[in-house]
Amino acid sequence: MIKKKVIDRIRVTPGKKVNLKDFDTGWAATPELKDAGKEVVKAKAAELLEANREELAKAQELLWANDIYSVLVILQAMDAAGKDGIIKHVMSGLNPQGCEVYSFKKPSDQDLDHNFLWRYMRCLPERGRIGIFNRSYYEDVLVVKVHPELLEKQKLPPGKHGDGFWEKRYDDINALEHHLVRNGTLVLKFFLNISKDEQKKRFLERLDNPDKHWKFSEADLAERAFWDDYTKAFEEALSATSTKWAPWYVIPADHKWVSRTVIADILVTSINSLKLEFPKVSEEKTAALAEARRQLEQEES
Ligand code: ATP
Ligand code: MG
Repeated sequence: MIKKKVIDRIRVTPGKKVNLKDFDTGWAATPELKDAGKEVVKAKAAELLEANREELAKAQELLWANDIYSVLVILQAMDAAGKDGIIKHVMSGLNPQGCEVYSFKKPSDQDLDHNFLWRYMRCLPERGRIGIFNRSYYEDVLVVKVHPELLEKQKLPPGKHGDGFWEKRYDDINALEHHLVRNGTLVLKFFLNISKDEQKKRFLERLDNPDKHWKFSEADLAERAFWDDYTKAFEEALSATSTKWAPWYVIPADHKWVSRTVIADILVTSINSLKLEFPKVSEEKTAALAEARRQLEQEES
């Protein structure tokens, strides 16, 4: 497990104003890690990720067997920060039957005919399952805040765009998440914090490598021009929506081995904190199992 004090540094304290400059994007978040050196930290991270992938598979089985809690994992980030890689590498040990991934793109006409939370509510994980939101309702206070013209498409009643509009959206999100947590959903929110330099490097890699050309979209470059606006929108959203019941984690994302290891660790620790055990079967059921064994053993071969 990653030391608690390291995790405490990246968990956004409820009510605290976030300045992303205070959050490291690299691998040396503490002096101890820096002293250990990059290669040592990287090797330890690989071991930990492997161990946590196994732990996660066990934790998922317990979730499934208990059928009481669900887990909602929210991934938000600038482009090329590694959301897809997290899903692929951290969740690879999971049983696909108990895990659902939803990637939210631009809203459809049908989506826009409803309140902004509607399309996400339809995809919430049922009890026993892990649901992953690759982008989420947070887009409605991020991309929509950066490009207010998108709000025009949301068909809000007149007078509803006034003062306190975004604060009310944050309140709605907090209320939704509180409702989910009270009803048995663990809500885990990760912001993959990549530096502007690292994004440039990754875009250039996509341009340099023909096998990665499909990953490059001109729209990503256009959005990069709004980097500062996105940073501000993220800071405001993280400040307003990191709550006791659903805190945000700001994940250092300049190295994929760091973000994957840290997220896997938080997932395992959080699910284990539910202290689930395999359900005990009733005496009646135990007797039925014994009878089944007796019948099988008596079968003629
Ligand atoms: P990848 O590029 O890795 O395939 P992606 O998540 O970037 O994955 P894209 O199809 O490139 O997927 O982008 C989805 C786009 O949809 C983003 O620009 C995002 O901001 C936009 N989007 C998502 N939700 C909303 C929303 N509620 N309102 C407006 N735009 C949204
Ligand atoms: Mg994209």
